[in-house]
Amino acid sequence: MIIAVDGPTASGKGTISKALAGHFGLPHLDTGLLYRAVGRQVALNGGDADNAADALAACDFPESLLADDVLRSEGSGSLASRASVHPQVRQALFERQRAFAQQAGGAVLDGRDIGTVIVPEADAKLFVTASVQSRAVRRHAEMVGRGESATLEEIEADLARRDARDMNRMDAPLVPAKDAMIFDTTHFDKDEAIAAAIEAVNARLSG
Ligand code: C5P
Repeated sequence: MIIAVDGPTASGKGTISKALAGHFGLPHLDTGLLYRAVGRQVALNGGDADNAADALAACDFPESLLADDVLRSEGSGSLASRASVHPQVRQALFERQRAFAQQAGGAVLDGRDIGTVIVPEADAKLFVTASVQSRAVRRHAEMVGRGESATLEEIEADLARRDARDMNRMDAPLVPAKDAMIFDTTHFDKDEAIAAAIEAVNARLSG
């Protein structure tokens, strides 16, 4: 069983994916982390995330980087969004994601193009979204919890910039797959969103 979860930053897709993986006993891959590692590695190499050759060279990042907390920062998220525009980078990360999805027993993957490009044959696809304001409030609370500082206005502006870049890029833009269930978490708390996602996936699997 393969479950594809796509959606913009801070929509709740990570939380929902982890909960689905736990509920259905499946391994989970946060594909955003791979792009964040590329973005971070570009910076470590002294390169420019907007340059395709620099971004491609950074796809060779060491596995240990995936465990580095710095990947969770807004700076790494922005670098990831810039590096992920390049088709060469997307191609370099394709096989790794595809292999994870195809392991025996199945998997849950979350990202931007899982249901459209990585596993178009997924058994259930969720497109998780929420208003930019509510996503900014959630991201702000997370950042305050980590001791990072930023105003709500700065976060909202950054999310809007990232949404625009992810949705308007030529290669694998952020769009719901035609057969995705659209899941708006704006008015849901965490537990409600998880319960509704499990119900939606069960309904899709039994339908
Ligand atoms: O989901 P997360 O915020 O960690 O992703 C960081 C960035 O990586 C996104 O803004 C997006 O540009 C890119 N990304 C992508 N395709 C994916 C996952 C993430 O382009 N499957």
